[in-house]
Amino acid sequence: MKIGIQDVTKRFDAFVALDRVNLDIHSGELVALLGPSGSGKTTLLRIMAGLDWPDSGSVWFGGENALALGAAERHVGFVFQHYALFRHMTVFENVAFGLRARPRHQRPGEPAIRKRVGDLLDLVQLSWTAQRYPDQLSGGQRQRIALARALAVEPRVLLLDEPFGALDAKVRKELRRWLRTLHEDIQITSVFVTHDQEEALEVADRVVVLDKGHIIQAGTPQQVHDRPTSSFVHEFIGDSVALPVTVSGGEVRFDGSPIAVDAQGLPDGGATLCARPYDIAVHAGAIAGGLTGEVRRLYGLGALRRAEVALRTASGEHLVEISAPRALPVGVGQIVSLAPQSYRLFPLTAA
Ligand code: ATP
Repeated sequence: MKIGIQDVTKRFDAFVALDRVNLDIHSGELVALLGPSGSGKTTLLRIMAGLDWPDSGSVWFGGENALALGAAERHVGFVFQHYALFRHMTVFENVAFGLRARPRHQRPGEPAIRKRVGDLLDLVQLSWTAQRYPDQLSGGQRQRIALARALAVEPRVLLLDEPFGALDAKVRKELRRWLRTLHEDIQITSVFVTHDQEEALEVADRVVVLDKGHIIQAGTPQQVHDRPTSSFVHEFIGDSVALPVTVSGGEVRFDGSPIAVDAQGLPDGGATLCARPYDIAVHAGAIAGGLTGEVRRLYGLGALRRAEVALRTASGEHLVEISAPRALPVGVGQIVSLAPQSYRLFPLTAA
């Protein structure tokens, strides 16, 4: 089922939570809505679900005007962060619930319900839990059952709001791989909300980055990570070092001193220099055209080792965090020069 969102605006009193949002979600696609807290992700998901209504704009499910349909008529499945399974029902009965709750003439017979629930429990690899109660499952298992329950009624669209948000880091990681594989099997149009960029990049076919009620960029994980169109996306997706610079006559300056980076054709004015920490070379001592500073702290181990470097500025210092693999000879208190090898410059107006 294809979803079309056209010019959707949603206000809460004077506050604009979504501002003329346009988004096409293709049939069978797995889309992540990613953005900081308050950017409008959940509001957009709730509008798709029929739990909230926009002030203006339209929402299409295939060729059908979804805003003319109530939540139940849209045939969407939901999974929320704290999706309450019925505690007094077994896992089997929880998954069967949506089928048993159908009006009599649409309700499948008992053998068909057993078959469907059995298939879904196989799909989420939890058949062995059928006779258990939710309290006897781990958090991750409960979310997989919640997903099976959402899928039981054969929804046209699956909507997930921070489905793994309440789980610990290791279980989250396992579940997002599992969700990716599951989606490849069932190919249902799915939209999930997350504020975790790693989760979005790993799971989604397409990542939609929101900020303050606007879509800032939408693209494949590789596009948004490798070709961000603004410093906001560069900083929000993946690790990023961002420095305020000025461009003047093709020369780039940090705190008034020229640095050895290309102006990338930018006109004169303020800009943000963005680089991935692992794309910054570190040299001992001060070098011409480098960003010179003092190593303040070292933390993390192995490939994840990081160094905090205080760059000197006229008004004080500017702290940046860079990668400092063990092989790199840096120590606390040492003067180093940073030389971005691969970087992007964004004019301030486009930020
Ligand atoms: P989070 O990651 O924190 O859940 P979000 O991106 O999902 O954030 P939304 O829940 O969509 O953000 O909220 C967007 C903005 O709209 C927020 O500033 C929020 O305070 C506001 N908002 C959401 N629902 C309501 C409401 N019912 N009444 C008033 N303001 C609301």
